Amino acid sequence: MEKISNKEDYLESISNRDLTIYLMGELVKDPLTHPIIKPSIEAMAETYDLAVREPELASVKSPYTGENINRFLHIAENNEDLFLQNKMQRKLGQLTGTCFQRCVGMDAFNALHSVTFEIDEKYNTQYHKNFKSFLTEMHKYNLVVGGAMTDVKGDRSKLPHEQEDEDLYLRVVDRSEKGVYVKGAKAHQTGCINSHWMVVMPTLRLSENDKDYAIVGAIPVDADGITYIYGRQSCDTRSMEPGEYDVGNKYFAGQEAMVIFDNVFIPNEYIFMNGEYDFASMLVERFTTYHRRSYVCKAGVGDVLIGAAATIAEYNGVENTSHIKDKIVEMNKLNETIYATGIASSLQGSKTKSGNYINDDLLANVCKQHVTKETYEIGRLAQDLAGGLVGSMPSGVDFNEGKMSKDLKKYLKGKEDINAEDRVKILRLIENMTLGRNAVAYLTESMHGAGSPQAQRVQIRRKVDIEEKKDFAKKLSGVKERE
Ligand code: SF4
Ligand code: FE
Repeated sequence: MEKISNKEDYLESISNRDLTIYLMGELVKDPLTHPIIKPSIEAMAETYDLAVREPELASVKSPYTGENINRFLHIAENNEDLFLQNKMQRKLGQLTGTCFQRCVGMDAFNALHSVTFEIDEKYNTQYHKNFKSFLTEMHKYNLVVGGAMTDVKGDRSKLPHEQEDEDLYLRVVDRSEKGVYVKGAKAHQTGCINSHWMVVMPTLRLSENDKDYAIVGAIPVDADGITYIYGRQSCDTRSMEPGEYDVGNKYFAGQEAMVIFDNVFIPNEYIFMNGEYDFASMLVERFTTYHRRSYVCKAGVGDVLIGAAATIAEYNGVENTSHIKDKIVEMNKLNETIYATGIASSLQGSKTKSGNYINDDLLANVCKQHVTKETYEIGRLAQDLAGGLVGSMPSGVDFNEGKMSKDLKKYLKGKEDINAEDRVKILRLIENMTLGRNAVAYLTESMHGAGSPQAQRVQIRRKVDIEEKKDFAKKLSGVKERE
């Protein structure tokens, strides 16, 4: 295999692979030409293209190979690196209007760098060395690595070993001198089919009885025993219909699939945790710390939606109306709140024992908590500005070529110097981002990705030093209870 240096190399590298993918009951022969899957591949490919067009933003020199690699593979060496990740994520959100799928691997790598180091320190294991040689291999070929964390979880009130069906969390079912065999399923895995490798990780704090579930390892996505079941997205079959108006976003979409592991082998050299259950919570916490501020991606996607809302206001002739202007201001305020908390988290990072940098945990959780709410409010305002037509427009076929095409072009016109066609396209984009395919990326993923809202509230409560705050108040008010 040659090193991937651009979008074309990437597309070539994922063609002709032997993956078992089911979509709507059928085996997918070629994801690259499948109309539902292709827009998600294009979004991933954009991460390579950006690195060519803007190398300072999206690429970096690998400390392991000395060659240029994609920033998504880089281990943060300082706060500036963490901040640049965010800048790149916002940019890619603006360019694609959806989830470009590559941050999970970046955040998993950064978390594993320090966690493997600390496991080795306690248990005298070799995980950090294994991890670094895997990283070097990924750098050498400039590959896409996904992080596979979320198990299907079964009964949420029970730990993995307490479940009636033992496979509801990914676990080791067999061991040999050469490695381990794993079984289980990971839910809604972002961009898994568009990746080259995935790293499986536990999804929650584990107990001593969950040792078999304490497994972290790297697996090629086309390994024996893996099956993918493609996730449906609202309105995804519009990509299979004639005409291009109704898709809303002409080029891009996100991707989630369920991944089933049936006795999949992981060789020893690709194992980064094997039974050290007491480090599972550290790994989950560090990964989510990185990943929750990665959600500044949604500020980039929000930029597109705000642009669409402002454009439709203009096409409707109301861009100078005061309440419309104020709603656009509100959308921007909410969007910048997401970005501001994310980059503040990155810029207040600190050095880990292994030497890489981790962003601030409290602010990362505040960022993600905003993401779970402000995106919905921005979406609501975009629909407000769009008007009811966003949910009731005739199809592109009727609009373009049907018998009523002429009438529709007459009656769907807004401002006189604007084509009805352009007005319809912008409304379809708003529909796409708030009700259709990319509402999965902009809204549902904002809610649940990197942990559902309550998970962030738990972390915020833990990280805030409430006793210190009480002391501030007591001191200024003259309370004397301490004496
Ligand atoms: Fe990256 Fe955002 Fe997609 Fe997560 S949701 S992979 S942070 S683009
Ligand atoms: Fe995600």
